[in-house]
Amino acid sequence: MAQVETVQGAIDASELGVVLAHEHVRFRDEAVAAEWPGRYDEAGELEAAIEAVAAAKSKGVQSIVDATAMFGGRDVRFMKEVADQTGVRILACTGIYSYDYLPHYFENRDVDAMADHFVSDIEDGIQGTPIKAAFLKCAADAPGVTENVEKIHRAIARASVRTGTPIMAHSMPAVATGPRQVEIFAEEGVDLARVQIAHCGDTEDVGYIEGLLARGVYAGLDRYGLEMFLPIDKRNATTAELLRGGHAERLIISQDFCATIDWFPPEAAEAFQAQGAIRNWSMTLVFDEVVPALRELGVMDDATFNTLFVENPRRWLTA
Ligand SMILES: [Zn+2]
Repeated sequence: MAQVETVQGAIDASELGVVLAHEHVRFRDEAVAAEWPGRYDEAGELEAAIEAVAAAKSKGVQSIVDATAMFGGRDVRFMKEVADQTGVRILACTGIYSYDYLPHYFENRDVDAMADHFVSDIEDGIQGTPIKAAFLKCAADAPGVTENVEKIHRAIARASVRTGTPIMAHSMPAVATGPRQVEIFAEEGVDLARVQIAHCGDTEDVGYIEGLLARGVYAGLDRYGLEMFLPIDKRNATTAELLRGGHAERLIISQDFCATIDWFPPEAAEAFQAQGAIRNWSMTLVFDEVVPALRELGVMDDATFNTLFVENPRRWLTA
């Protein structure tokens, strides 16, 4: 059986168990955090991360794929602390989470030089630790696949081809970034069976998602609880239709939960909940509400659960 890298070292892929394939134990801007560390409650962040991951563990989760890349404040020492304290495995990535901006550092270096950075995270270790990246991450959002976003995608693709590492690409169905992202990966020779297009579940357009699935990629139905993009019942209807369509083996269900996130001042979280922009967003929502609802709809049995939460993440990670 293939090996998978976790923040606690490589494991046999069969040990992954039940996986949440898109979460964040912390999300913050590393530049702001480095310049004004006093604005962050490091102990509180750790506490929130441990609480969220322990809650997931209580639902049977054994491994969490943490999709935090550069600009999300990726910190593998923090991830390892959470993994050590909870006993849940955490998988880290390498890559750049940008909707367009690139530092001059990368603007003035070519695609292959950028790819070298990702490859060293995969082969040598991240941030001066022996912890290695289990997957690659890039993003396209409202601005679309801009020149800089394309450059990142090509560098991610080349790192994948060089190392055999899988890819997770944040996408935005509202501006249909997915097809272009997949096209770039294909042009670079990436094995599309190792690609996960995240956030496909933000649309009700099943045809759009099926168009992506036809290329052989995984589709992330991974933002349960983020009602501002799509409410849970509509997400479930999409998931049910895809399951009925025979796509169980290409779907990834998760919550994109951030145990803490610095995008908004602290009081905003309560306002979002009050406005209904988020609802019961957590690392257990899919087990609390989604799996039961899908069982009710007749599209989820134990075998399907195993396909979605055990086999699919393992297959994506290891082929
Ligand atoms: Zn995410």
